[in-house]
Amino acid sequence: MADDDRLRTVDEHLATVLDGIGSIDPIELTLLDSQGLLLAEDVVTDVPLPGFDNSAMDGYAVRAVDTRDASPESPSVLPVVGDVAAGAKSRSGMGPGLAMRIMTGAPIPAGADAVIALEETDRGVARVAINREVVSGEHVRRAGEDLQSGAPALGAGAALGPQQLALLAAIGRDRVMVRPRPRVQVISTGSELIEVGHRAAFGEVTDCNSYLIAAAAKDAGADARRVGIVADDHAKLLDVLETQLLRADILVTTGGVSMGAFDVVKEALSELGTVEFTRVAMQPGKPQGFGHLGDRVPIFCLPGNPVSALVSFEVFVRPAIRKLLGKRNLHRATVQAVALERAESPEGRRQYRRGVLHREATGGYSVSLVGGAGSHLIASMASSNCLVVIDEEVTEVVAGSRVTVIPLLLSNR
Ligand code: AMP
Ligand code: MG
Repeated sequence: MADDDRLRTVDEHLATVLDGIGSIDPIELTLLDSQGLLLAEDVVTDVPLPGFDNSAMDGYAVRAVDTRDASPESPSVLPVVGDVAAGAKSRSGMGPGLAMRIMTGAPIPAGADAVIALEETDRGVARVAINREVVSGEHVRRAGEDLQSGAPALGAGAALGPQQLALLAAIGRDRVMVRPRPRVQVISTGSELIEVGHRAAFGEVTDCNSYLIAAAAKDAGADARRVGIVADDHAKLLDVLETQLLRADILVTTGGVSMGAFDVVKEALSELGTVEFTRVAMQPGKPQGFGHLGDRVPIFCLPGNPVSALVSFEVFVRPAIRKLLGKRNLHRATVQAVALERAESPEGRRQYRRGVLHREATGGYSVSLVGGAGSHLIASMASSNCLVVIDEEVTEVVAGSRVTVIPLLLSNR
């Protein structure tokens, strides 16, 4: 694309990206491994919940008719013929006119139809005095009242949180088919880059993007790995990408996509013809590469400045990861906030500034900007908790006006 060509809008590029994201085959996982994922099957229960009629209270199992006309003045006094504990392996039975001591969760004895709570009796051991009428069914949890055998428990597409995992466990499912976490491989490119842990000599830069993007991808729900650093060298880059293809549902590179003489990612991948390099009407993050490698593995080539990389990730890669996860809502929630200071933004570009979002005592939000527009400012990025979006047509935000903010809340998966 020539320099004077129209830039692609953020929304156009996002649409291109999402078009190029397919789906991953479901896999079977154990319950805790499936936390946060979407169910990929309809689960029908073959057991009822509860599994048997049982007591909701510690008390006495009785026949309601045996307490007819009972009152404090003239209680029903019933012989206690045994105890039923939770975990009782067989169903006990009880004749008319009798009572059994019963614990919460224990099976209701055959012949009983209600439970009177311990605290409403004299707590007798050999016989128990009950001083009110008990209603049939009282404190009895019926088999199948929660879920009947053969009924649908959870449908495909259900999000598996703690409650859903509890239900699956309760009906005896220890594994389920889910949409897996996409495997995201993150590669930093740049001959100036060194691994963290070595002191940077003059001209060297410690790679932080692979941590930034792998952590952001993990937070978005991916199974993300840092591949590490690749120098600005065609052959090495293509070699690493080829190896990682086999382990990736998404590849992400940073660096090497601008106009510079050593922008190797752009040069090497442009030649393949399956990755397109475009300029998007945004700031930061104008140069973007997206396409597919090998057997249609999506690859994102993000610019190298850390702030540009994060913004590009948030705008394009995170929605792609969420699409692969099968999520219906691909985008982060936004809030409206009062800008605490003035900001300028280039005409025709959507600007994403780093900000600190404050919750006002009155309930609304306000936002202050940190770090200016520079996309190399790692420390100010680290002090921010949101992105402030300044739309394409807006060139100035005055203090006190309302802006759209994307809080960068950690999901904790
Ligand atoms: P590039 O997009 O390759 O032209 O890089 C733009 C700027 O970002 C340069 O100053 C790079 O040194 C810096 N940069 C690129 N990759 C990384 C990285 N992985 N970690 C930290 N800084 C980087
Ligand atoms: Mg570079």
